[in-house]
Amino acid sequence: MSFATLGLSEEIVRAVTERGYTVPTPIQSQAIPAILSGGDLLAGAQTGTGKTAGFVLPILHLLTTNAAKGPSEGRPPIQALILIPTRELAAQVEESVREYGKYLKLNSMVMIGGVNINPQISRLRSRVDILVATPGRLLDHVQQKTLDLSHIKILVLDEADRMLDMGFIRDIKKVLALLPKHRQNLLFSATFSDEIKALADGLLNKPAMIEV
Ligand code: AMP
Repeated sequence: MSFATLGLSEEIVRAVTERGYTVPTPIQSQAIPAILSGGDLLAGAQTGTGKTAGFVLPILHLLTTNAAKGPSEGRPPIQALILIPTRELAAQVEESVREYGKYLKLNSMVMIGGVNINPQISRLRSRVDILVATPGRLLDHVQQKTLDLSHIKILVLDEADRMLDMGFIRDIKKVLALLPKHRQNLLFSATFSDEIKALADGLLNKPAMIEV
């Protein structure tokens, strides 16, 4: 099994090869084809399994092969939203998006609290294809009307169990209400409490299920 046989484009395979990955991890060999097929996904995976590349690589592929259908003039809309519980992890995931996407023409942005909001507001005036955000700061932008999530095609809830443990459920629900109905949803969690199952039931449409 290689990254190329999973169906990823040459530019993406080149970037992961340069990163030193030769063989996809178990979560990657299952999640990548499932996500490329366009369906929803429920994945049970701990940190350290390679789950980040498991969702970032197919998202990069989908966004470059299915060209954005946004307004024909001006800046294209944000297409993918990756929600992450902590600032540190959000910064790491966005770094991965940039590295794996270095041969593609996609722009990513990290949106976290604890830093001045103004540079983020300026950044949002230029093109952002993939937004990696923590829920609190994302909602600050929504309140300030500096963020438009109405064209999101792919949503990722990463470390969903940690997000619930940190008390983000109400924020997540507020974010979900701002997204278009027709979209692809990917939920990653290390554990599956009743609360996670309820969230997954409400969010996912006939998901592929994988566990590593
Ligand atoms: P994650 O579970 O996404 O936090 O990834 C855990 C670690 O595994 C990170 O340091 C990645 O750089 C690394 N990694 C991810 N995929 C692969 C792969 N296919 N081969 C080798 N290392 C990988």
